[in-house]
Amino acid sequence: MELLEGLNEEQRQAVTTTEGYVRVIAGAGSGKTRALTHRFAYLVNELGISTSNILCVTFTNKAANEMKRRIRSMIGDNDTGYISTFHGFCVQVLKEDIHVLQYPKNFIILDTEDVNSVLHTIFEDMGLNSKNFTFPTLIDMITDRKNREDYLKDILNTDHEELKDKFRHAKNQQDAIFYRYLYEQKKCFALDFDDLINFVLYIFEHYEDIRSKWQQRLEYIMVDEFQDVNVRQYRLTQILSDYHHNLFIVGDPDQTIYSWRGARVEYILNFDQEYPSAGTIIMDKNYRSTPNIVNASNSLITKNKKRMEKQLIAMNQTEIPVIYNHAKTTGQEAEWIAEQIMTLIGSGRKLRDIAILYRSHFISRSFEEVFIKKNIQYTIYSGIEFYKRKEIKDVLCYLRMIVNSDDISFTRIVNLPKRNIGERRMAFLKEYAEKNNCSLWQALQQNLEHELLTKTQAKAFLHLIEKYQAVYEKMKLSELLTNVLNESGYEALLRTNGEQDRLDNLAELKQSIFEYERDAGEECSLPDYLDRISLYTNLDQKEQNDAVQLMTIHNAKGLEFPYVFVCGLNEGIFPSKHVDTKDKLEEERRLAYVAYTRAERALFLSDAEGVNYDGSYRYPSRFIFNVEKAYLNYTVELEERLIGDAGFYIEQNERKLEGNTIRLQVGDIIRHSVFGRGTIVGINDEISSYIIQFDSMETTRSISFKIRLELIE
Ligand code: ATP
Ligand code: MG
Repeated sequence: MELLEGLNEEQRQAVTTTEGYVRVIAGAGSGKTRALTHRFAYLVNELGISTSNILCVTFTNKAANEMKRRIRSMIGDNDTGYISTFHGFCVQVLKEDIHVLQYPKNFIILDTEDVNSVLHTIFEDMGLNSKNFTFPTLIDMITDRKNREDYLKDILNTDHEELKDKFRHAKNQQDAIFYRYLYEQKKCFALDFDDLINFVLYIFEHYEDIRSKWQQRLEYIMVDEFQDVNVRQYRLTQILSDYHHNLFIVGDPDQTIYSWRGARVEYILNFDQEYPSAGTIIMDKNYRSTPNIVNASNSLITKNKKRMEKQLIAMNQTEIPVIYNHAKTTGQEAEWIAEQIMTLIGSGRKLRDIAILYRSHFISRSFEEVFIKKNIQYTIYSGIEFYKRKEIKDVLCYLRMIVNSDDISFTRIVNLPKRNIGERRMAFLKEYAEKNNCSLWQALQQNLEHELLTKTQAKAFLHLIEKYQAVYEKMKLSELLTNVLNESGYEALLRTNGEQDRLDNLAELKQSIFEYERDAGEECSLPDYLDRISLYTNLDQKEQNDAVQLMTIHNAKGLEFPYVFVCGLNEGIFPSKHVDTKDKLEEERRLAYVAYTRAERALFLSDAEGVNYDGSYRYPSRFIFNVEKAYLNYTVELEERLIGDAGFYIEQNERKLEGNTIRLQVGDIIRHSVFGRGTIVGINDEISSYIIQFDSMETTRSISFKIRLELIE
């Protein structure tokens, strides 16, 4: 059986133990996914199981496509049945069976942007402003309620009028927003990502015939990356496997990186308690990476306190060191990486064999600039190139308005933030401009006193632009940008919407302007800057076959690349500045472990000095110091002083996290120095607080983990 060739003993066992509950726990690159794909092929080729009777779930679309490709080549058939993500599988179930809920087969699926635009409508219609609610908190609120409440009854059993009634007479604003959101969804039969799995679970729980149809159909179920399933995904696997009892799961507890979205590593750890008949297969050989990469990664992950000890031995014997480079600026960091890439290409490697991984999207900016300059082709996965991101384009249009006052910039920003210049008024301006053969900007200047415009903030907009048109040539560019962001209300808009990613991107744009000023010296001017930037924005890069791959680490989960650069390894970036508990820090370290273990032949770590937006210094990340120096090859020795300062900063930070860490449990009775005796009734991780019912009070209080509480019993 050639299928079993090229597999080790444990993998063979995993492939051939087709019946019952089976769990594989193993470290990165140990061949878990390979075992899973071979198992699929074994079921089909050797046992004669039809692909339409096998469900195979992975975590991302990219991983699912890769898996399909491999399985196709092994079974020589294009029909691969159900190989998809949980979401993808749910869509398939709903396409077939959602009619029982009186929904059409071609229901709409709302993506994140769609959800935002529904929220915009709600804000407008309800006359809300973002002072009380930000979009992300509302999205969390909606997700949270969808997890906890029986909201499906409301959606399914209530008609439009009743739903309307519910939000009109809601007892508070949150209820009103929630029901309004459900109403908007119901009106156009739209499902968001949370609904997909909730609808399926609802159908399975209420329609026995449908449940048993799917249970019987799916004779074999396999799930990859099981360390990252959440409660509903777990429930779905439980239900689906409850007829044939064939469930095969694989995962690595050290790679749990979605706790922040509800993933629970306990599901893989306690699988044998849930299913006492379950067999467990442990694998400890790494086939992906060189020994140095494996050792460096092991060395890093053992710094986590909460983990199951595992061994991982490299099978590959090439001795290539892991390289670490420290740069003074992000520009130099990008230059260094570009140089390494050129060297690799010079020695016959392909661009597509190289991946650049980072913690957050905003990091991509300096790399993109250098790659464009040096003509190195690149592709960004599941993210938009920096200069094409909405907020960057918005702000550049403000700057262009000052220099060019062109119609495109005008249309983009005149009502951003809202200045009450909506469609009707724009139509008026357009008509005027056409008749008088002038620009929209001139149309506005000439009609400021028109009754249609007097009730808008057109004047303020006009004054803002005119003010800077008069002085921009004498101003520093960075100052101009800061003023425009402030005075236009654009930055405040993002701030009140709480759009952190966009704010990070704006801060990065400011950084790029600083760099431009520094490099251009006397020559720098706004028109010149805009010309330069247009090189980056107007590129029409096609989907490339041979290109460096840029992506966040979350997107690189499960994948592997011959050459991997992990960059932006700085305190405040990675670990992120948002980390405020020890548990979150351990999750960041697992994320670094995922990043390091993507590399097959060579791993490059890099960082650059600088300042974070909160003013903190960008020291080299603890995830570099966490790797024993013997496994790292420093391109330059760090200055003693930098090591000392970084060490001090990290130590302080760890101490702070220690203080922020949960030490008590729900049910504990405590004493607070002022409020007295109380019982812990809940824990709110988001704000690092215990929810406490004090004997002396009627309602609960949230008390920070940092406060000393005496444990009584
Ligand atoms: P991750 O935890 O990152 O998801 P994994 O455990 O799923 O990793 P795979 O992606 O299945 O690991 O395998 C890692 C690499 O090792 C792949 O290139 C795979 O082809 C190779 N490999 C796996 N098993 C063997 C084997 N027995 N012999 C040779 N190569 C193998
Ligand atoms: Mg895998």
